[in-house]
Amino acid sequence: MDATTKTTNEQSDGYRDDCVFCKIVAGRIASTEVYEDDRVYAFKDINPKTAVHVLIVPKKHADNVAELAARDPETLADIVAVAQKIADDSFHGAYRLVFNTGKDAGQSVFHAHAHVLTGEVLPE
Ligand code: 5GP
Ligand code: ZN
Repeated sequence: MDATTKTTNEQSDGYRDDCVFCKIVAGRIASTEVYEDDRVYAFKDINPKTAVHVLIVPKKHADNVAELAARDPETLADIVAVAQKIADDSFHGAYRLVFNTGKDAGQSVFHAHAHVLTGEVLPE
């Protein structure tokens, strides 16, 4: 194997061709945009669990929130700020922010994402 052979599907810009959220960020899979800036993209969850259910993802692939926090804490802070803005706009600033991490905790897409759950009073 020469030095240029890729051992994963990750390209130099972080795009992974086997990752559904990389494809959404790239516009190769359609999504309903809620917010976008240089670092993050937010879109409606296809299977909403609450009145407002938005996913916020880093544009550059990370497998989960711990990897994102270690590698790019500014983007993680941006995700929290965007969650607050979505909740300010839709439900007087109240929201639940969930990062499922690991298959046995319910993570099914292995590109870091925050679930913003808001738009209604949530059970404790
Ligand atoms: P996880 O189970 O990994 O914490 O969350 C993944 C979320 O992504 C689920 O809530 C699921 O409904 C959502 N999801 C999976 N595929 C798509 C898709 O193609 N488009 C959108 N908008 N949401 C998706
Ligand atoms: Zn990805």
